[in-house]
Amino acid sequence: MKKLALHWKIIIGMVLGIIYGLIMLSLNAEWFVRDWVEPFGGIFVKMLKLIAVPLILASLIKGISDLKDISKFKKMGLRTIIIYVLTTVMAITIGLVLVNTIKPGNGVTQETVETLKDKYSNSDKATTIISNAKAQKESGPLQFIVDMVPDNAVYAMSNNKLMLQVIFFSILLGICMLLIPEKDAKPLKDFFDSLNEVVLKMVDLIMLSAPVAVFALLATVVVSADDPDILLALLKYTGVVVLGLALMICFYVTVVSIYTKRSPLWFLNKISPAQLLAFSTSSSAATLPVTMERVEEHIGVDKEVTSFVLPVGATINMDGTSLYQGVAAVFIMQVLWPEGLLFSNQLIIIVTALLASIGSAAVPGAGMVMLVIVLEAIGFPSDILPIALALIFAVDRPLDMCRTVVNVTGDAAVSMIVAKSLGKLHDPKVKNWDDNYDAV
Ligand code: ASP
Repeated sequence: MKKLALHWKIIIGMVLGIIYGLIMLSLNAEWFVRDWVEPFGGIFVKMLKLIAVPLILASLIKGISDLKDISKFKKMGLRTIIIYVLTTVMAITIGLVLVNTIKPGNGVTQETVETLKDKYSNSDKATTIISNAKAQKESGPLQFIVDMVPDNAVYAMSNNKLMLQVIFFSILLGICMLLIPEKDAKPLKDFFDSLNEVVLKMVDLIMLSAPVAVFALLATVVVSADDPDILLALLKYTGVVVLGLALMICFYVTVVSIYTKRSPLWFLNKISPAQLLAFSTSSSAATLPVTMERVEEHIGVDKEVTSFVLPVGATINMDGTSLYQGVAAVFIMQVLWPEGLLFSNQLIIIVTALLASIGSAAVPGAGMVMLVIVLEAIGFPSDILPIALALIFAVDRPLDMCRTVVNVTGDAAVSMIVAKSLGKLHDPKVKNWDDNYDAV
C-alpha cells in the first residue's frame, strides 16, 4: 500500500484532535487534555522555536555572503519592504470594506454585550492586554528602530522575542563577510553552510512528529473554547474576518500565478504544511522553519531571497493580523461607540494597523494587544476599553489561527514575487511532497 503523505497525516491529526477535544468536553474531562495531551503540542512548538534562531542566523549569513555584491541586497531589501507595505494596506482595506458593508456589529444585542462584559471585562487577560499595550505605546516613535539594534548578540539570540535583532546581526555579519577577502571569509561561510544544512534536516525530523502534535494542539484549543452561545452571537463578526482572510489568500494566489506562472493549486499544495502548522500553532515565528524549508526546497526560491524575506516577513509582515485589526476596530465601534464611525477614523485605522502589524510579535494573541493601540489612536474612550476587548475575546483564538495562516502565506507569496523579479525563482530541488521526510 502506498504510504500516506505527511500532509494527509497532519490533516487527519487535526480532525481527530477536534473530535477528541469535543468528546473530552462532553465528558467534562478537560483536565485530562490539559494534563496529559497539551504537553505534546507544547514540546513540538518549543522544538520549532528552538531551531528558528540557528536557522535565521545560518541561512541569512549564507544567503548574504553568497550574493557577491551588496547592491543586490539593497535591491532585494527595498522591493521586499515596498511589497510588504502594499500587501498590508491592501489587507486592511479589504477588511474595512467588508466590515463597513456587512456591518456585523448591528446584529449584536445588548444582552450579549452584558454577558460578555460580565465574563471578560474584569478578567486578568483584559488587564494584561491593556497594560502590555500601554507599555508598547509609551515608547517614542523611533523606539522600534532602536529596538531592532542589539547591544548584545548572544542575548538577542537567547530571546525569541528579539528576532529582528538576530536578523540585524546576521545581515551585518553577512555584509562584512562580503567586504573582506574571500579566502578569509571562507571558513566562516563553510561553517554557516554546514549549520544551515543540519538545521534544515532538523526541520524534517521535527515534522515527523507534526501529526501527533497538531492532534494535541487542536484538542487543547477545543477544550479551552468558550460556550457555543457566545460563539454563535459573534458568528457574523467571525464570518467577516474569515471572509476577508479568504479573499487575501485568493489575492496572493492570483498575483503569484499571474506573475510567476505557477498554478494557484501548485502554490497552495507546496505551502500547505506551513499553513497547517500556522493554523495549529497560531504563531508565525514557530512556523518559520517550516515555511523556509517549503519555500526554498519545494517551491524553488533561492536561499539568498528566502533567508531575508521570510524571517523579516514573519516579524513585520502580518497581513492577516492587520486585516483582523481593521475589522475588529470597526466592529467594536459599531457595537459600543457608533459616534466614532467617521471616515477620518478609518484612515487612522489603516495607518495604525499597518504600524501595529509591524510591531506585533509573531506569537499567539499578539494581534489583540496591538488592537488596543489602534483603538486608542482613534480616541476610543478608555473607560470602555475592557468591554471592547471582552466583546472579541471569545473568538480570538480561532481567528488567531486563521490570521496566522494568512500571515505565513503572505510571506511565502512575497518571497516568490521578489525572487521572480530578481531571477531567483527556479525549479524546486524537491519534487514530491514527502521526499524530504522519507529521507529522514
Ligand atoms: N498569531 C499571529 C502570528 O503569529 C499574530 C497575531 O495576529 O496575533 O502571526
